[in-house]
Amino acid sequence: MLLIRCPYCEEERPELEFRNAGEAHVARSANIAGESDDDFEKFFFIRSNPKGIIYERWRHIHGCARFFNAVRDTVTDKFIMTYKAGEPKPSKLPKNSNDVVSK
Ligand SMILES: [Zn+2]
Repeated sequence: MLLIRCPYCEEERPELEFRNAGEAHVARSANIAGESDDDFEKFFFIRSNPKGIIYERWRHIHGCARFFNAVRDTVTDKFIMTYKAGEPKPSKLPKNSNDVVSK
């Protein structure tokens, strides 16, 4: 079973307690009604979907119910680290992707 560390509860919990909430750090326009259709399409539908490291939002839906961010490797499906919502993207990632850490 995949374990995910909630940075608020400060413990690893089974993945069944969590829900993926899409890509993290997607900037919302201050004037979304003024966006062109193409720019709105990019904001609303287009995601990076990389093979490798991805930054995602997750919610501890059956725990504290809070949103947080996670760095996950899409190839190995391993969580590299989790951090609280509102914090910037980590500038350095752990060398060993097997080291699941929380800020
Ligand atoms: Zn939690």
